[in-house]
Amino acid sequence: MLSIITLVFFVVSFFIFYRFDKRFNIKSNKYAKIQSSITTNKIIQEFKDTYGVLINIKENTEIDVFIPSEEKVYLSKTELKENLYHISVLLHEGNHVIQYKEKYFPLQLFLKSSPYRQIMLIILMILFLTSFKLPVVLPYFFVLYIMFITFYAFSVIRYEYNCYKRTNKLINELYNNKKIKKDEASIMKEIQKDALLLYVLYTPIGFLR
Ligand SMILES: [Zn+2]
Repeated sequence: MLSIITLVFFVVSFFIFYRFDKRFNIKSNKYAKIQSSITTNKIIQEFKDTYGVLINIKENTEIDVFIPSEEKVYLSKTELKENLYHISVLLHEGNHVIQYKEKYFPLQLFLKSSPYRQIMLIILMILFLTSFKLPVVLPYFFVLYIMFITFYAFSVIRYEYNCYKRTNKLINELYNNKKIKKDEASIMKEIQKDALLLYVLYTPIGFLR
């Protein structure tokens, strides 16, 4: 019975986060239709001049992400290049490149723990499936699950929040140096805020992604 309640909890959570994710995507698609006054190349130059980091870009991918092993930033949604969403994502991922180069601890922790997380995930699934036949294992599942989300919150939310602060600072600098307009700066900040909120909301089911 308890296993079924747990299962319902996860299904409902997943549905809520899926809806939120979709809403975030609809909003970001809207910003992908607005041309930005600053170009991708200028942003890349900015990172090079100010922080001494080189950003390699791979375009038209499925997801927006920084791949540390390749030292490349993957960018999707390039129907209209140099749009506000695209630039905003580039600023965010560029700051992950800086964190990576600086060996920022929460990010290092997350990257280096990848194989252990996969093992933990398999154990979690086995415990959960076993709990249907053997309810006594359910508390073990919960202990492991709490450990998992605590770790997720300590590493992912910490480095994402740090990245959020760095990106906001950079947006302010770009605005102060008259490289972007005021309304562009506020839209870029809004995208950063929504992305951060998404990460925080994802915490309970972060490992399902
Ligand atoms: Zn990020």
